[in-house]
Amino acid sequence: MLAPAKKKQLVLIGGGHAHIQVLKRFAMKPLSDMAITLISDRDVGIYSGMVPGLIAGSYQAEELQIDLVPLAALAGARFVRDAATSIQTTERQITLGSRPPINYDIVSLNLGAPIAGADLPGVREFALPTRPIAKLTDALGSLDKRVAQGEPDAPVVVVGGGAGGVEIAFCVAARLASGGVKVRLIAASSRLLPDRARAVADAVMAAARTRGIDIVLGQRVTSVSENQLGLQSGEHMPHRGVCWTVGVTGPEWFADSQLPVDAGGFVLTDSFLRVVGHSNVFAAGDCATLQEHPELPKAGVYAVRQGPVLADNLRARANRTALKRYEPQQDYLGLLDLGDGTAIGTKWGQVRQGRWVMRLKRRIDRAFIKNFQALDSEGRVQPSFRKLFEMDEEMSCGGCAAKLPAQSLERALRNVAGSDAEHLGSADSTVLLGLDLADDAAAYRTSSGDIVVRSVDVFKAFSDDSYVVGQVAAMNAISDLYACGATPRHALALLSLPEHESPRHNEATLSEVLAGARVVFAHEGVHLLGGHTTIASELSVGFSVDGSIDEESQLLRLDAMVPGNALVLTKALGTGTLLLADRLGRARASDRAALYSSMLRSNGPAAALAVKTQLVAATDVSGFGLAYHLHEMVAKSGVSATLYLSRLPLLPGTASLMQDGLRSSAHPFNSQVGAKLRVDDAARQHPVLPTLYDPQTSGGLIIALPQAQAKDFVNQLHELGDPSAAVIGEAMSSEPPTLRISV
Ligand SMILES: Cc1cc2nc3c(=O)[nH]c(=O)nc-3n(C[C@H](O)[C@H](O)[C@H](O)COP(=O)(O)OP(=O)(O)OC[C@H]3O[C@@H](n4cnc5c(N)ncnc54)[C@H](O)[C@@H]3O)c2cc1C
Repeated sequence: MLAPAKKKQLVLIGGGHAHIQVLKRFAMKPLSDMAITLISDRDVGIYSGMVPGLIAGSYQAEELQIDLVPLAALAGARFVRDAATSIQTTERQITLGSRPPINYDIVSLNLGAPIAGADLPGVREFALPTRPIAKLTDALGSLDKRVAQGEPDAPVVVVGGGAGGVEIAFCVAARLASGGVKVRLIAASSRLLPDRARAVADAVMAAARTRGIDIVLGQRVTSVSENQLGLQSGEHMPHRGVCWTVGVTGPEWFADSQLPVDAGGFVLTDSFLRVVGHSNVFAAGDCATLQEHPELPKAGVYAVRQGPVLADNLRARANRTALKRYEPQQDYLGLLDLGDGTAIGTKWGQVRQGRWVMRLKRRIDRAFIKNFQALDSEGRVQPSFRKLFEMDEEMSCGGCAAKLPAQSLERALRNVAGSDAEHLGSADSTVLLGLDLADDAAAYRTSSGDIVVRSVDVFKAFSDDSYVVGQVAAMNAISDLYACGATPRHALALLSLPEHESPRHNEATLSEVLAGARVVFAHEGVHLLGGHTTIASELSVGFSVDGSIDEESQLLRLDAMVPGNALVLTKALGTGTLLLADRLGRARASDRAALYSSMLRSNGPAAALAVKTQLVAATDVSGFGLAYHLHEMVAKSGVSATLYLSRLPLLPGTASLMQDGLRSSAHPFNSQVGAKLRVDDAARQHPVLPTLYDPQTSGGLIIALPQAQAKDFVNQLHELGDPSAAVIGEAMSSEPPTLRISV
């Protein structure tokens, strides 16, 4: 049989106006035989056309945000949240801010451009820059604060007389109108909007006069201090807040990246949006200058129009077919939001103004952004995206969901125990935790009397982002030791790399996995000593880990629960559902961020607290789901327990995804334990019931401890950084030992 073709790597850097279109097009028509990666320093892209409206208060922030996480997933692209810091075209490698380099075969840049003049004295400290545009939208609150604290007679100053400066001046004036704050626009040019027709500038000047906006032309700002602007003329001018909108410059790191740049530092492209002299490097939007049209302004409309051509050309380059020429539009419909429900529109030298122009602008902007907002603010699929979300019901999940069902494991262990009990540890006095108990880890005493706790945990990669997979696998493996109260010390890596990938690709994957794991191990005080790799059908990652414990009495056992215990869960549930949602493009960026932050939160502090508390039982929640592990505690401790569904902490997004019927592939097996539970009638209909069977990757601990200490224990967990830790039930004496599920 022929091995599948090795996949080439297409890397998109930046989630700008052109790349969102590339992603959407690849979602609609997949790019075969290419693995796609999107590198973005932010989870969301901002549609700049609506930013002035946000400033004026006519939009909410989420209305102009494009969540890159579902968009990338729909395009089959792995999403790497990091900043690119250079490109080595000879090695075909991209270096990143906080993780190992990424290799590419084809790379495309659409990463905007930083604000010019940021190095002038005081600009970084005292002015609000309008690029990166997301920084502007994040910082609006700080402008309000600054204005409130400033000198009452001083104006808010907008520096820059281009379209951005004009819109910001009008929209800031609208934002602050009720406070009677003055707004002044200062520009170095002798007229406003130097790249637009004179009639537009005249219309803007007239509109400024009627709104009391002061326009100062021919003055260059050379410095900013807390309350004053320094001008080239030597004069100083008071202010109570500065917006810096003076145009853009090329990203600094282009110069170190073997890329051809123009005098402004922007990468030079030919008419196929290909970087000059590099057949496999493309660029679009503000970061690039078209060699044939250096005069084109840096405006989102060009990035938007370049998007479809870029998508076609990336596909053509991958398939080695002919590229398309990009012809820039000769003029475009310029629409300036005046912040008060009116706008000025201009094309081919004609100027129109009024409320109808603003209505037109709103309609155009809303129609554009709808094309890229796959999920609404509640995480529901937007109607226009439904077709793209036809989900693959057969998709098997990675992470801890990719396990042998608990029942198969139990049967296999019973068979072995029946045939050879002597070698399972129960007959060996040095074994403290062995197969007969099947706790989270094994523990034994060495000949010198020390107690060693050991575990191994391996899972199929749940994401194409190998760095994150390495981080989570490391945290997941040592969690078994924490669940037993041990301090982790050493780790050995166990990795299977996909046979269908090239050695170069697998080497890069290995580096990413180990780099991710090392970050976690270093934080947890664990030394990675070695490991073993093998070739298999897909990537799986795991670690064999060992740790120590001072006294046998410190071992946290799962069979030590007693009547009167409260049951505490240290992390919210939902990782199985959310990991699946992430692969299907159904996870919002904020849900994904909460998911990763939970999986990467150490169970160490909770375990240390449990060891200190004494008289506790513990286990960690794994791929078998909460119900299975709690049932194990009940059965092995010989006590009954009640679990309250209404008290279960859930990760954001989990409830609505589950209500939509999303279930991990491990869910059917995990829910078989339901037959052993006593589920109250009311609980059977409860929407949270399915989360009991959701497989958890790097899940929390269940800790059983005396009721009287539970409240204080949970408060301490909150202080230690487990915000969702909660008391979820209690243990009691009743025969036979039963796990009851109540609402
Ligand atoms: C207030 C204001 C209003 C504007 N209004 C309009 C308008 O109405 N019409 C118009 O045509 N233009 C407008 N513009 C200009 C417009 O914002 C830009 O021209 C446009 O955003 C450029 O788009 P882009 O796709 O090149 O990059 P961007 O939209 O800037 O996107 C770049 C993306 O790349 C990411 N990124 C950056 N560096 C890295 C890195 N090293 N690694 C990974 N990711 C990175 C960024 O976080 C960002 O998500 C306005 C500008 C301002 C300031």
